[in-house]
Amino acid sequence: MAQDSTSVIIETMQSSFLKWRDFSLDDRISVLKDIKEKLLQNKRDYADAITTDMNKPIKLAIAEVEKCAYLCDYYIENAAKFLENQEVKTGWSKSYITFRPLGVLLGVMPWNFPFWQVFRFVIPSLLTGNVFVVKHASNVPLSAKALEDVFNVDTIDFPIYKDLSIKSSEVANVIANPIIKAVSLTGSENAGRSVAETAGKHLKKCVLELGGSNAFIVLNDADLNYAAEKAVSARMQNAGQSCIASKRFLIQEDVYAQFIDLFKQKLNTLILGDKYDETVTFGAMAREDLAIELEHQLEKSVAKGATIIAGGKHNGAFFEPTLVTNVTVDMPIFAEETFGPLAAIMPFKTIDEAIELSNKSNFGLGASIFTNDPQQLDTYLHLFDEGALFINEMIVSDPHLPFGGIKNSGYGRELSHFALYEFANIQTVVVK
Ligand code: NDP
Repeated sequence: MAQDSTSVIIETMQSSFLKWRDFSLDDRISVLKDIKEKLLQNKRDYADAITTDMNKPIKLAIAEVEKCAYLCDYYIENAAKFLENQEVKTGWSKSYITFRPLGVLLGVMPWNFPFWQVFRFVIPSLLTGNVFVVKHASNVPLSAKALEDVFNVDTIDFPIYKDLSIKSSEVANVIANPIIKAVSLTGSENAGRSVAETAGKHLKKCVLELGGSNAFIVLNDADLNYAAEKAVSARMQNAGQSCIASKRFLIQEDVYAQFIDLFKQKLNTLILGDKYDETVTFGAMAREDLAIELEHQLEKSVAKGATIIAGGKHNGAFFEPTLVTNVTVDMPIFAEETFGPLAAIMPFKTIDEAIELSNKSNFGLGASIFTNDPQQLDTYLHLFDEGALFINEMIVSDPHLPFGGIKNSGYGRELSHFALYEFANIQTVVVK
C-alpha cells in the first residue's frame, strides 16, 4: 500500500481515538460484547480464513477463534475492577492513580495464531481506550481482512481497528508517524530488534513477544505416561509453530529410555490428514520454506552426531512429527529455536544439571517440569531464567495469567491485569 494511503488510515484512526477515549468503560465493554458475538456468529468463516492462510487444521482454527471469545469474556468480567482509580493515602487531601489511553497503537503480528495473537494484544488495550492499526504477517491475508471485519461492529460508526496491508520494510515509517504512540510486535528476534530500534529512535514504547525454546523437564518420579501425553501436545501443537512450544526435552537418566518409548508411542495419537477434515489434529507447516529451514537445522545437527528416532522427513510444507536423540548443546536443534514439529531429547543426572541445561538458551519464555513431588522444586524454581514455570503442565497462554518472556524472548507482558497497563498512561492525580 502506498505510504499516502497508510497515512490517511492513521489519521482516520486518530479521529477514532478522540471519540473512543470519550466512551465510558461500560460503553467500551458493551462494544466488546458485540465483537465477541460477531466472532462467535462467524466462527466457521473466520476459522476457514485461518486454515486457508496457514494450513492449521480446521478443528484447531475453530478452537483458536473460540479461545479469542474466552479472552473477551475474561476482560468483560474483570476490566472494571482492573481499571478503577486507585486511591493512595498521602499528605494531600486526595490522591489517586488513574489509567488513560495512549492513542493509536501499531501491532506487528505473526501468522502462527493469526487471530489469537491479535486478540491478545488488542482487547485489553482497547478497553484502556486505545485504537489500532495492524500490520499482519504477509502470509495470512484472509485472516488479516477477517480481523478487520470482526472489529467493525454496527454499534459504533467509526473504526477502532484497521488493517494496514503494508510490507515489513514500511513498518519503520509507520512507527515514525507522530500519531502512532506505541508498538507491539510478536514474531522473530530479528523483527523484534528492528522494531525496537525504530521505536527507541522515536522514543516510543514497545512490547516484544519473540521466540522461545522452552525446556520440558521430566524427573525420575514423574507420571511418565501423563508426561509423554503432554510432551506430544506441547511439541506437536500447531505443527510445532508456537513460541511457547516445548522444544528441548530434558529427561532424568533413570527414566530416559522408558520416556522415549512412550513419547514415540503417543505420537500415534496425532490425527493426520486433510486440513478441512474436522477430526484432523496435525497438519502441514504454514509454508514450505519454514519446513526447509527446519530440515537444515536437523541436517546440521545430524552432521554433529544427532540421531533421528522418529520422522525427520518433509514433503512440501508437511513435516513429519520428529524425535531426535544424542543431542548436544552446540547443535542447532538445541541452541536455536526450532519452529516446527521436532523434539530434541537429552538425558540429565541431577535437577541442578537440568536447570543449567534449561537456562542454556538465549530465550526465556517458559519451562515445564514433571514430578510427583512438586514441593521438592520449591528451592529450585528461583534458579530458572523464564517468564513462566508450569509444574506438571505444558505451557499455555491463559487470559488470567501474564504472558511474556525475558532474555531474547522479549519484554513486556500480555494478558491478565498487566496487559491493561502496558499501553496506558498511568496518571497520578493530586488534589491539595
Ligand atoms: P517474522 O518475525 O518475520 O514475522 C512476524 C511479523 O513481523 C510479520 O508481520 C512480519 O511481516 C513482520 N516483520 C518481519 N520482519 C520485520 C522487520 N524487519 N520490521 C518490521 N516488521 C517485520 O516471523 P517469520 O514469519 O519469519 O517466522 C520465523 C520465525 O519467527 C520463527 O522461526 C519464530 O522464531 C518467530 N516467530 C515467533 C512467533 C511467536 O509467537 N513468538 C510467531 C511467529 C514467528 P512479513 O510477514 O511481511 O515479513
